[in-house]
Amino acid sequence: MSGNAVRLQAIKDVEAYVPPAVSFDPGEEPGQIFGENVFSLNAMQKRLPKSVYKSVVATIEKSAPLDPLVADAVASAMKDWAMEKGATHYAHVFYPLTGLTAEKHDSFLDPVGDGTALASFSGKTLTQGEPDASSFPNGGLRNTFEARGYTGWDVMSPAYVLENPNGNTLCIPTIFISMTGEALDHKTPVLRSQQAMSAQAKRVLALFGHDEPENVVAYCGPEQEYFLVDSHFFLARPDLLNAGRTLFGAKPPKGQEFDDHYFGAIPERVLGFMMDTERELFKLGIPAKTRHNEVAPGQFEVAPMFERANEASDHQQLLMTTFKAIAKKHGMECLFHEKPFAGVNGSGKHVNFSIGNTTQGNLLLPGDTPHDNAQFLVFCAAVIRAVHKYGGLLRVSVASASNDHRLGANEAPPAIISIFLGDQLADVFEQVAKGGATRSREKGTLTIGVDTLPDLSKDPGDRNRTSPFAFTGNRFEFRAPGSQQTVAVPMVMLNTIMAEALDYCATELETAVAAGTDFDEAVQTLLAEIVANHGAVIFNGNGYADEWQVEAEQRGLKNLRTTVDALPELISPEAIELFSKYEVFSDREMHSRYEIGLEQYLLTLKVEANLTAEIGTTTILPAAVRYQTELANNVAALKAAGVEADLSLLQTVSAPIAELRAGLAQLATALSDLHDHEGIAEATFARDAVLPAMAKVREAADALEALVADDLWPLPTYQEMLYIL
Ligand code: ADP
Ligand code: MG
Repeated sequence: MSGNAVRLQAIKDVEAYVPPAVSFDPGEEPGQIFGENVFSLNAMQKRLPKSVYKSVVATIEKSAPLDPLVADAVASAMKDWAMEKGATHYAHVFYPLTGLTAEKHDSFLDPVGDGTALASFSGKTLTQGEPDASSFPNGGLRNTFEARGYTGWDVMSPAYVLENPNGNTLCIPTIFISMTGEALDHKTPVLRSQQAMSAQAKRVLALFGHDEPENVVAYCGPEQEYFLVDSHFFLARPDLLNAGRTLFGAKPPKGQEFDDHYFGAIPERVLGFMMDTERELFKLGIPAKTRHNEVAPGQFEVAPMFERANEASDHQQLLMTTFKAIAKKHGMECLFHEKPFAGVNGSGKHVNFSIGNTTQGNLLLPGDTPHDNAQFLVFCAAVIRAVHKYGGLLRVSVASASNDHRLGANEAPPAIISIFLGDQLADVFEQVAKGGATRSREKGTLTIGVDTLPDLSKDPGDRNRTSPFAFTGNRFEFRAPGSQQTVAVPMVMLNTIMAEALDYCATELETAVAAGTDFDEAVQTLLAEIVANHGAVIFNGNGYADEWQVEAEQRGLKNLRTTVDALPELISPEAIELFSKYEVFSDREMHSRYEIGLEQYLLTLKVEANLTAEIGTTTILPAAVRYQTELANNVAALKAAGVEADLSLLQTVSAPIAELRAGLAQLATALSDLHDHEGIAEATFARDAVLPAMAKVREAADALEALVADDLWPLPTYQEMLYIL
């Protein structure tokens, strides 16, 4: 096919497409399928000898070391359970530093030597695997000649059976480490940081009179935004296909200005997709709860109920895989890129964060009178200290080439990390600073003025959507993470910086008490000191305003605008000291993550730049030149006929064609000059020379899209892709 034939065919195919019926059984009880494919505590209790079950629970609930003898019994029960569910294979699932999910499948069958095979699965196979892992990113932690990597069973995250039309697989979440014990994945540091945070939180709880407190865990509720595009369009857009985002495309005449999509009626086809995904997620024990349209056309959101961070982060990865697979079944592509369409809202993943345990509940719950809830205030003050002291680490935890298109624009929080506390808490901490908090603003009621409607309760503080880190009543919502990234990275940062802050609080209080200071007085002194030294991070105003950039600088807050600015945070002396102290990352591991961050940034930019050059040269320029030729022929024909020819249209089209050529030349030069640089300098050059050249190419191409005859235009337009569902 040539010219615009691909685009026209895509439009025809989209129009003719009939979505599949949803496999929905009206007789099915809600909740009946929940967790059906999970080897949950419940399933284990039914199948394991009592002592084995108890031992597993002790590991999960109390972090007791796993008894190796137990593994054999669990493996055998797990295998039987999975085979009853149709599994023929098992897979150690791990989370390498590509940010994706990796799995290595093995059959349960082992040949027994007489030409037959027996299903077997031992404790050793359950607990340890050795994938050929030499091609996963390691940032210099391994050489190819010492390429061994091991996966290890994470008892804390339940195994599950993944259904596939061609056979089911038992999936076992695992960590992934090098032969020298260094983390090559995103799960290992979640577990290490969780342990570090718990140890310090327990010291604080002990000071508040809770003897031998239970482990404290981080909870994470990730809200996921995504776009859906019809597959026919997706396949006709090499940029979407290869880069996950459109590198070209003029703004549609109707954008999101009308705000008519947000929370609007969900289109039937999309609802069918959502129902299908929810069924799958339920089976896997993923508590998908909320679904709605998002701000941009074609954009939607799903929010599962919060869970322990380790499980939430595994579930999040599984959710993304499931969404992608089921979208395909419905003739659509699910886009998790942070900015698939320029000029329309991008996608984030809001990470709701709290800490707690089953006996003390949520430690970030203020109650109705936070001013006299000293324990809450200490935990909250720890968050303030952590975020102020280590804002740079939170910033780098969300840094990627793709999230750079979103952060700092007026739709996502700025790159400056600050905390929104809301009126009630901000007021309490102001009182603390002045010598002690004595009152809390009360919850109000909203009188509606309609007799038949009951009064609604009103929260003591409003929300602030412009803040990257906002208190929302019982948790903090970190709004900066990108939609396609793993939530593990922000969770590792949050756990580790909280470990440091809680360690500090516990040490201060323990020292004061040991010196004979009254406990309440010690708490007040600690809180006042934290507000004085770290209160600069609290900002309740408009984070999108230009004045905030200026004010934040005066307050000494970092404004790390791009990934290139943020990445060095990973190897700052303070960061290295912090992570070594709490045994989350060694110096080498930090450097490896920094190297991988750089490598991924550069790879992304190079792929995008090459695609821009290719599409610009082979698709857009030919269409524009054809149209230019048509116009020139028209002028010539008119002249030949003795009619006065108007050259203005030809000139209007010729100008952006010249710009496009110049842009492509500039891009080629930038790409070849890139090789003169290395490391951070190469990334900096890519940001400062390659990205602007790509923008120049795009600007000319988008101008041409508005000029070239529609029947010659080769790429599906924004209007077509965003409004057809
Ligand atoms: P909104 O869009 O109003 O921010 P949503 O209902 O879309 O709220 O999502 C809120 C997310 O926060 C959900 O994933 C929810 O489970 C999670 N959440 C609620 N309470 C907590 C908590 N204590 N800790 C962590 N996450 C929480
Ligand atoms: Mg939210």
